[in-house]
This record gives sequence, structure tokens and C-alpha cells, in this order.
Amino acid sequence: MQLGAIEAGGTKFVLGIGNEQGEILEKIIIPTEHPDITVPKVIEFFQDKGIERLGLGGFGPIDINETSPTYGQLQRTPKTDWVNYPLGAKLKEALGVPVIIDTDVNVAAMSEAKWGNATDVDSCLYITVGTGIGAGAYFHGQTLKGLSHSEMGHIKVRRHPDDTYSGTCPYHGDCLEGIAAGPSLERRWGKKGHELADDQKVWKMEAYYLAQALTSYIYILSPERIIMGGGVMKQEQLFPLIRKNVLEMLNGYVSSPYLTEKEIDQYIVPPGLTDEAGVKGALYLAMQ
Ligand code: ADP
Ligand code: ZN
Repeated sequence: MQLGAIEAGGTKFVLGIGNEQGEILEKIIIPTEHPDITVPKVIEFFQDKGIERLGLGGFGPIDINETSPTYGQLQRTPKTDWVNYPLGAKLKEALGVPVIIDTDVNVAAMSEAKWGNATDVDSCLYITVGTGIGAGAYFHGQTLKGLSHSEMGHIKVRRHPDDTYSGTCPYHGDCLEGIAAGPSLERRWGKKGHELADDQKVWKMEAYYLAQALTSYIYILSPERIIMGGGVMKQEQLFPLIRKNVLEMLNGYVSSPYLTEKEIDQYIVPPGLTDEAGVKGALYLAMQ
């Protein structure tokens, strides 16, 4: 059976054709432009490939509630051309196949569980710290869904005493995404993330914020592994700082061998997959 897979990101769409063994047989990448430009290209690519199902991991917010009349519709995304765009319905109508939709981060969590750094556990959380902050959860074979998807990047965290920056989130100002995603680093410190590599105070503050979020996620979800990706996490120096802060903040309250100095290096980890994580995850959605 031929299956279609889409990783729909804010800057690019990765389109793939794969099989039920999870192999990507053909792949192209197109830029994310206005939907009237991008979506016809997507349809053209899949049209004559004989796919029977299509999986899509998308940037959000996007309606992933299968019982909703607006399933697969983009919501209040900062990419304004795409607000309320019925992506799922357009593809289903044009291609005449079922379209299975989830968020990019849920799909990344699933992909890491299947092929990446969480193959040995039954639950994991995938967090991206990039242009925005988002997290996806995969527990016992299913991604986490409710009303729609969770918005773990928009929680409140306690402000660092040295931080006076007001935050970039258009909805909440100084939510986690507003004070810890890539754009907030650039506005607070006046330089891009990679140019700040040698500035210790930047990464101490960043780790203080991300560790608070992780601590809350551990309390609420109790994942067996936490995978941290996205552009900002390319600063590998963040990992030891975050791990140390998490242990201090938990203060021994949650008992697990993973949450000890000895094993936390295997608990909070970078992604195991690189290039094909999104599109392989979307293929796995189509396989289900
Ligand atoms: P997106 O979130 O749009 O998919 P990325 O995950 O690459 O894309 O995140 C982009 C953000 O990450 C930008 O704000 C950028 O400045 C920041 N970033 C990218 N590379 C690095 C790096 N090496 N160190 C710190 N920040 C980085
Ligand atoms: Zn917010």
C-alpha cells in the first residue's frame, strides 16, 4: 500500500511517499507560502501517486479533534495567511483519501518513540524550543489529545529576578514561549541565539525557565523520557544546566531512578532522529 506523509512546518512542507514498513520512498520539500500557492503544489505532488491514506503533522494551532466539524483546520496561527484555513478538508477533497492529522510535536514524539531516543520506554514528551515552544506527548501508543491539542509552551513560569523583558507572546506576553523561545532571546539580548553562545548568563536564565516548565510537565504527565529539540536546543550547554535545575526544583519529591544525578542524562535528552523525524512520523500516522 502506498501512503502519503506531510510534515507541514511554518517555513517548509516536507512531502513523502512511503510504505507500511515505514520507509520513505520519495520525498520533496517546498516552501510554506500563501496556502493558495502551497496547497496546489501539495495536491499536484500526491495526485498521481496512488496513495490510500495521508498522514499530516502540522504546525499549529490546528484542530486535531476527529469529531469536530473543523478537523484539520488551522486556528489562530501567527502565520496569518493560514488562519482558519481548512487544510485537512482541502486535501481530503482533492485527493479522495482519508487524511489523519496531528500536531508537528505530537508526531515528533511518536517518531522518537518508534525510531528515535524513546524506543525503550512506553511514554515520552517531545519539546521544541525554536521560533515557538511546543510539546507533544506519546503515551502507550497514542498521542495526547483532548479538546484539541495541548499548548504546553504557553504556561506561566516564575520570572527570573534579573529579567525585566516583557515577553513576545501576542496572547500572554510573558508566558514560557514569550520569554524563552528563540525570538525572545534575540529581543532581550539584542543578538540571535547562536551569537550568544559564549554568554553564560543567557543560558543560565534560559535553563531556569525551561527547567520550570519540565518540572511542571513531570508533575502533570510523568513521562518516562523527555526529548528536547528545536533551534535553541542546538546550544548543547543547555542540557546539563536544565538537568541540574530540574533536580533542584523537584527537590527529591518524585521518586524515580531517572530523576537522580546518575541517570538524568538518560532522561532529558536531545532527539535521536534528525532530518526525517517529521515526515516519518506523519507516515506512521497514515499507517495506523
Ligand atoms: P522553527 O521553530 O521555525 O521550526 P527552529 O527550530 O530552527 O525553527 O528555531 C528557530 C529559532 O531557533 C530562531 O529563533 C533561531 O534564532 C534559534 N536558533 C537556531 N539555531 C540556533 C543556535 N545554534 N543557537 C541558539 N538559537 C538558535
Ligand atoms: Zn503565550
